[in-house]
Amino acid sequence: MSAQANIQIRHDWTRAEVLALFQLPFADLMYQAQTVHRTCFDPNQVQVSTLCSIKTGACPEDCAYCPQSARYDTGLEREKLMKVEKVIEEAKAAKASGATRFCMGAAWRSPKGKDMPYVTEMVKGVKSLGLETCMTLGMLNEDQAKGLADAGLDYYNHNLDTSPEFYGDIITTRTYQDRLETLANVRKAGMKVCCGGIVGMGEEESDRAGLLIQLANMAEHPESVPVNMLVKVEGTPMANQADLDPFDFIRTIAVARIMMPKSHVRLSAGREDMNEQMQAMAFLAGANSIFYGEKLLTTPNPEASKDRQLFTRLGIHQESYEIHQDEKEQEAAVYQALEASHNDQFFYDAAK
Ligand code: SF4
Repeated sequence: MSAQANIQIRHDWTRAEVLALFQLPFADLMYQAQTVHRTCFDPNQVQVSTLCSIKTGACPEDCAYCPQSARYDTGLEREKLMKVEKVIEEAKAAKASGATRFCMGAAWRSPKGKDMPYVTEMVKGVKSLGLETCMTLGMLNEDQAKGLADAGLDYYNHNLDTSPEFYGDIITTRTYQDRLETLANVRKAGMKVCCGGIVGMGEEESDRAGLLIQLANMAEHPESVPVNMLVKVEGTPMANQADLDPFDFIRTIAVARIMMPKSHVRLSAGREDMNEQMQAMAFLAGANSIFYGEKLLTTPNPEASKDRQLFTRLGIHQESYEIHQDEKEQEAAVYQALEASHNDQFFYDAAK
C-alpha cells in the first residue's frame, strides 16, 4: 500500500480526538503533522498569494479584532472602492513579485447590487493576467455567489473566525449560521472555499479544537485554511489581549494539517510578529501558503524580499500556477478589462 493510501480524508472528527491531538507532546504532534504533510504535498513548496484591500474601513460589523469596523476608533483612513484599473495595476505588481493568487478584500457586511458590476470586472481583469483570483466581500447570497463564479472567481474567503461557543464574544452583528450559509452558497456556485480563523483572541484550546472541527467536518474541506494570529490593534476591543503562547499557534497549524491533509494551510495575519524561527516551525507543522506584500489589508506584513530570503535559507520554492491562455489571448483580455474600466459605466463613486 502506498503512503498516499494511508491518508484518510475524514469528516467525522470528535472533540475528544481533536483535543487529544492538541495535548500530544509537541515533538509527537509535529512528527504526525509532518508525516501527513509529506504524504500529500511537496514539503519544500509554499503557495504565495497577495492580498489587496479594494475597499477599506467603515464596515458596519463589530468584529472585535478588526480595525476596519466603523465602531472602533483606530485612526484607519477610510477608502472608497478602488477603481478596476488600479486593482489590475496592483495585480500586475503582485504577479511581478511572484504571487500566483491575487486576493481582493472589501470591508462590507455584504456587497450591494450596485457593487457587483465592479467586482465582477475586477475578477475578469485580474484573471486575464493569468493569476488565480480570490475575493472576500462579506456575506453572499446565492445570486451574488453565482455572479462571482460566472465572472471566473476561483476562491471565496469567508472565515468562521473561532468556535461556535466563543463566537458570540467576538461578533454580534452576524451569526455563525449566517457564515455557514455564505459558505454553502459559495460551494453551490462551484467556487473553492478559503475559510479559517483567528487564534489568540482569548479563546480556550477547546475553542481552537471547535473551530477546526467545524472546518474539517464540512462535506468538503476548504481548499484553503488561513490560520491567523491576532494582530492587536489599538482602538479595538482586542488591543490589550494577552499574548498567545507561540507553541499553541504552531499546534493549531499542526492539528489543522492532520485534520485537513489536502488543504493548503495558510500562515496568515500576525506573521510580522513572528520571528523567522517561528515561521520555519509553522512550515514544518504543515503550513504551505503565505501572503506576500507589505500589508495584510490594513495591518503590516513582512516585505516580499525578506520572505524570499527566508525561502532561500530554508530551501523552499514557490508553488507555480498553470496559465492556460497563450500570451496573446492574455494581452487581449487585459486590454479588454482596462477598456471596460475606462468606460463611464464602471466609474465608481459610492462611499461604500
Ligand atoms: S472582519 Fe470584515 S466584516 Fe468584520 S469588521 Fe472587519 S471588515 Fe467588517
